[in-house]
Amino acid sequence: MTKIFLDPGHGGNDTGAVGNGLLEKDITLFIALEMSRLLQNEYEGVSVQLSRTNDETVSLDERTDRANRWGADLYVAIHVNAGGGTGYEDYIYNRLDDDSPTARIRNAIHEEVVNATGFRDRGKKKANFHVLRETTMPAVLTENGFIDREEDARRLNDTRFLRMVARGHVNGLERALGLQKKRKTALTRVIVDGTQVGAFAERKNVLRHLGKAERIVLEQVEE
Ligand SMILES: [Zn+2]
Repeated sequence: MTKIFLDPGHGGNDTGAVGNGLLEKDITLFIALEMSRLLQNEYEGVSVQLSRTNDETVSLDERTDRANRWGADLYVAIHVNAGGGTGYEDYIYNRLDDDSPTARIRNAIHEEVVNATGFRDRGKKKANFHVLRETTMPAVLTENGFIDREEDARRLNDTRFLRMVARGHVNGLERALGLQKKRKTALTRVIVDGTQVGAFAERKNVLRHLGKAERIVLEQVEE
């Protein structure tokens, strides 16, 4: 099981950056929830926790403590930039080497987000941020566009674009962690006394049909 901790930046009393009528805390939450949905729907053996799932105040210590206690394999903090600029950049802890496992994970996320979004590539960076320093597992912090730049904000105001941002992150995680996609639909056929009486995506639903039968054959098929 690969345990991925998603940390949508800010929340509650802390709006994060503000610009063009947008709040950073709303954008980061949308991206993180979409990432969580994609990871759990599409991949095998992935467990996801979030630092918050709604608009609540969570301290930096709480965020990293929660991930450390859970024993996450990877920590991904999602943010939006401000202060003059445009495009995408990401961070790992400043004491890490460029060939460290964390750097390799970051590089995959970096390429895939730039690919998926067409954001201007502002580079792969390092910093002494709390969430990068106080986590006991590889940690990456992404800065997705500039909220105070009109052209970036216009894109960040579109949920279809935010889904592309999430998809980019997930594609990076798939590559970096070797995540396996779920198989399409595995159906379990129920054959009672030689006659098929049903086919179920969930094996537990088969149990309802077991009562009356004399001879039951369960056969796993791919669709
Ligand atoms: Zn932020």
